[in-house]
Amino acid sequence: MSYEVFTLKYRPQSFDDVVGQEAVAATLKRAVETNRVANAYLLCGSRGVGKTSMARILSKALNCPQVLAGDPCNQCEVCESIAKGENLDVIEIDGASNRGIDDIRGIREGAGYVPSQGNYKIYIIDEVHMLTIQAFNALLKVLEEPPAHVKFVFATTDPNNLPDTILSRCQRHEFRRISEDDIIARLQHICQKESVVCDAPVLEAIARKAEGGLRDSISLLDQVVSYAGETIELGDLERAIGVLPTEHLEGLARTMANQDLPGVLDSIKGAFWSGYDPQELMAALTSWFRDYMVWHADPDGRSQGRQEALFEELAELMPLDRVLYLTKLFLNLRGDIKRSGHERIQLELTCIKAAKSLGMLPVDEIMARLKGKVAPPPPALRSTSVPNPVPVPPRPSVSAPKVQEPSPGTEPKASMSMPSAAESRSSQSATRPPVREAQAATPPQEPQRPGPSSSPPGGAKDYGGSSAPGARSLVTEAGAQTALEQEPTPPPRPALTKPVGPPHLPTLRQHWVKIIDLVKDMSSMVGSSLDQAAPQAIDGNQLVLNVPKSNAFLCEQLSRNEALGMITKGIEAQCGWTLKIAVVQVDSGADGAPVMKKSVYDDPTVRRFIEHFDGGIMNVEKSDG
Ligand SMILES: [Zn+2]
Repeated sequence: MSYEVFTLKYRPQSFDDVVGQEAVAATLKRAVETNRVANAYLLCGSRGVGKTSMARILSKALNCPQVLAGDPCNQCEVCESIAKGENLDVIEIDGASNRGIDDIRGIREGAGYVPSQGNYKIYIIDEVHMLTIQAFNALLKVLEEPPAHVKFVFATTDPNNLPDTILSRCQRHEFRRISEDDIIARLQHICQKESVVCDAPVLEAIARKAEGGLRDSISLLDQVVSYAGETIELGDLERAIGVLPTEHLEGLARTMANQDLPGVLDSIKGAFWSGYDPQELMAALTSWFRDYMVWHADPDGRSQGRQEALFEELAELMPLDRVLYLTKLFLNLRGDIKRSGHERIQLELTCIKAAKSLGMLPVDEIMARLKGKVAPPPPALRSTSVPNPVPVPPRPSVSAPKVQEPSPGTEPKASMSMPSAAESRSSQSATRPPVREAQAATPPQEPQRPGPSSSPPGGAKDYGGSSAPGARSLVTEAGAQTALEQEPTPPPRPALTKPVGPPHLPTLRQHWVKIIDLVKDMSSMVGSSLDQAAPQAIDGNQLVLNVPKSNAFLCEQLSRNEALGMITKGIEAQCGWTLKIAVVQVDSGADGAPVMKKSVYDDPTVRRFIEHFDGGIMNVEKSDG
């Protein structure tokens, strides 16, 4: 017997065969049964969900002489010829390649002739949204007054691109994406028929890759069977179609949840060397986090599968608010990769960031600490031991000190099993505050915190420049609650890390306060002048600095070679980029940004926020008030 591809061999032949589209199938079946068939149907849905199959089944049901309870017999000559696409009365047109007016004129002429075998002449137009406007207009003529023996079935993946005049003349049916469970069930059925032995994880991985498209999943199965024969294991799947195994994906998720940074890097490295496209890994992770988000958000809709068991296991480590953040993080990754390339680095960066973020304190709690209303973390969160489910490093993930050195599996391993790599790398004692270490490594940042006089006690300067009492790691607060309540000093922070990648304005802005500090270390005058300028743009290797037009002196000062050299050095030291500086005077009357920025920077509260969160001022706007 000759080989027939699975997608054709297992194409549904009757309404009940169509997987996952029960509502549409029931409606059409009943329409045939009760002889209430519309002139035109529009079947909408993503690819591979059964639209064309449904159109053919409907055609068979309409023309089969032995139709039974709305279903075609699938035995007669008519049914067979329609199934093979050879029936003269059922005309299938691909709208993507026959989209012109002449193609549609053919329909208008043909519609005038009576059907040769069955009761109806049926036109199936696939991807109907691809037709040209003229073609739609021509089609409309027949649709408005179709001969009684003519029926239309349109299929589209993009109904929004159809003219209203067409939409209003069709009975519209939406095809659902097919659930992974349904796909798996169908694949199991095929495996059974083909005497193929296939593990559940293999089918799960295929179903996930097909993203709700049954036809795609069946094609994939066909491909793996061609490769592996009658017994398929996960490894065959990996090699045949490059699907990331469930176990691998789950392993990566688990390492992230446990903030096991070496594990994260190892997982990515493993996937990379096994030949997986980082993009694919990214897509798989995004959809995994999406599923996890849904699992969290909808406890009633939970099913009992392998994936759900893992969700349950990780629920405490990754609560819903963190999952929302992580899902967004991975969604943004696609854009980041598009913009900058460097797929693997971006993926590693994002996964590390995701893992580190799980150790962050909630903003509410940080705020409470800033205000001195210390809400001491529950004992479980305070321990520094490794099996601690949610270790609490003192700073958010942006300052992960190792991220910029993409040498996976080597250096980070030494330092990343602790909540914050800064501490464990530079300090053997957990009681030593990380900020001390980080800043000790870059002493020039310390001495010249600007204007201690302008800042209230306990502000940024305290933990920047003063000694021990203010600079206390959160981890060590466990036994020092009372002291903390008396002294509302915010927790210390390690220095911002050097950014990865080419010069990037938002990143530069994040580091801007530090750069100013570095320049102040070289010359307090130049540093103070720089404080009044605003980084406006990066054009190649040139940084445009805006200064207010009204302050010619400032412009002149910053434009001196000596000053430019210092700024360049400061940026180099903080960000690792060598930039030329162009100082540009702007009309401060227009938006006054530099001047306003200066005054905003000087605000002690703002300063404290910038210090605390390693942030920067992106934009300053005048409020109406
Ligand atoms: Zn039949």
